[in-house]
Amino acid sequence: MMAEDRASLLEALLTLLPLDAVLCEEEEIRPYECDGLSAYRQTPMVVVLPSSVDQVRAVMRLCHALKVPVVARGAGTGLSGGALPLAGGVLLSLAKLKSILSVDPRNRSARVQPGVRNLAISEAAAPFGLYYAPDPSSQIACSIGGNVAENAGGVHCLKYGLTVHNILKLGVVTVEGDYITVGGDALDSPGYDLLALFTGSEGLLGVIVEVTVKLLPIPERAQVILAAFDDVMKAATAVGEVIAAGIIPAGLEMMDRLAIQAAEAFVHAGYPVDAEAILLCEIDGTNEEVSEHIMAVRRILQACGAGEVRTAKDDQERARLWKGRKAAFPAVGRMAPDYYCMDGTIPRQRLPEVLRRIAEWSQEYGLPVANVFHAGDGNLHPLILYDANNPGELQRTEELGGKILELCVAVGGTITGEHGVGVEKIGQMCVQFAPKELTQFHAVKHAFDPHGLLNPGKAVPTLHRCAEFGAMHVHEGKLPFPELDRF
Ligand SMILES: Cc1cc2nc3c(=O)[nH]c(=O)nc-3n(C[C@H](O)[C@H](O)[C@H](O)COP(=O)(O)OP(=O)(O)OC[C@H]3O[C@@H](n4cnc5c(N)ncnc54)[C@H](O)[C@@H]3O)c2cc1C
Repeated sequence: MMAEDRASLLEALLTLLPLDAVLCEEEEIRPYECDGLSAYRQTPMVVVLPSSVDQVRAVMRLCHALKVPVVARGAGTGLSGGALPLAGGVLLSLAKLKSILSVDPRNRSARVQPGVRNLAISEAAAPFGLYYAPDPSSQIACSIGGNVAENAGGVHCLKYGLTVHNILKLGVVTVEGDYITVGGDALDSPGYDLLALFTGSEGLLGVIVEVTVKLLPIPERAQVILAAFDDVMKAATAVGEVIAAGIIPAGLEMMDRLAIQAAEAFVHAGYPVDAEAILLCEIDGTNEEVSEHIMAVRRILQACGAGEVRTAKDDQERARLWKGRKAAFPAVGRMAPDYYCMDGTIPRQRLPEVLRRIAEWSQEYGLPVANVFHAGDGNLHPLILYDANNPGELQRTEELGGKILELCVAVGGTITGEHGVGVEKIGQMCVQFAPKELTQFHAVKHAFDPHGLLNPGKAVPTLHRCAEFGAMHVHEGKLPFPELDRF
């Protein structure tokens, strides 16, 4: 963008928003240069902080008229570079839209603005005996708007579903600045299921400005079991055995030796530091259900070779055991200058072989890998430890990460479980999807955003990009549907 165009954009923005809601000085915009994937950084041209839906609409109308790209941002905790700004674009922060509009215990739902923190919803619902089930480990910080845009998961999603299963309705501002409602307050709504389409759309189809979430009754009782294994493979096998027994735990998480040691040193959760792997298995429900399932799960874990099987004595111990899991990412972050968090999902029964392969590659590349993940969902989070100051180490890390994701696809899984594609996994999208499928994605994008102004360059690769990545053959440069804009 030319300097004079930039100046006129800033001038126009200042007619729509107060002075302190338009940031363009270097020291003001620097904090927005990356999300949780800090390997990629870029300051935006300008950051805007609207505090009402009308202001969001006005910003979108202006950007649409001037054909300026817009990247929406919630809390910036994303791990795939989804909120990475564009040098010539507007970064639209939803942080000031942070009101809980209503909690409706009769409909078991809450209407919230997009900047509301995930955990704040459960805090507001608690006086009614209700809570919001999806609980990403980042829940103290991440926003519900970002959760919807990423279709976030969490420990409790094994039993209660992902974000998409726990929302009813969205208010969305389109690229043209119009307000639309998708979904509804009833259980079903007519027409195409745009609610599902917008969930996980990574800011590419519209700006989410209101979310109606479902709330669930707080279970009568919840109990957690810790099982320690002397072999990762035994723990991986136990995961499948628990589910095969017909028990759906509220959460079933695995941590390997490196992750256990990091978390223990960080929060003193009481983990056995000599174990090769631990499973944390939470059971919730009525008193009777919990007692019965605890006994059954203990038996299965022991039969699978668990050395120690410990049931938390009280809520304090339960909270402590979960604290270690929830703090595992930052804990691992203390072990090396940098870490790269992967996020692939595989069919649960393939866990043992995939974990074995990752361990072999870790040796081969000379890069330690800590595993801490939603084992029950088959959602892996290998954390590759590296030092970006060592020449070539980031590239080797990215190569190893890419191989892990491609392995996930090869065993019938996907390249993302919950963190989204963003910029990080855009190459692997070419492995996951065939050109005809990607072309359908482009057609959907084109229907909502014909000029490609919303978060361009993220989530869905151009077909040319796939050709460069080596995963697709574009014959003589001829693409299917060449008239479509690519983004
Ligand atoms: C320590 C740690 C642990 C984590 N654990 C988990 C976990 O267990 N499960 C999990 O799923 N994720 C986890 N994450 C990843 C991250 O917290 C989630 O992806 C979260 O949903 C991002 O929310 P956010 O508000 O930070 O969004 P941002 O990072 O700001 O944005 C994420 C994406 O959403 C888009 N977006 C944001 N707000 C809007 C909006 N209002 N309208 C349209 N698009 C929007 C952005 O453009 C971007 O593409 C973790 C992250 C960290 C740092």
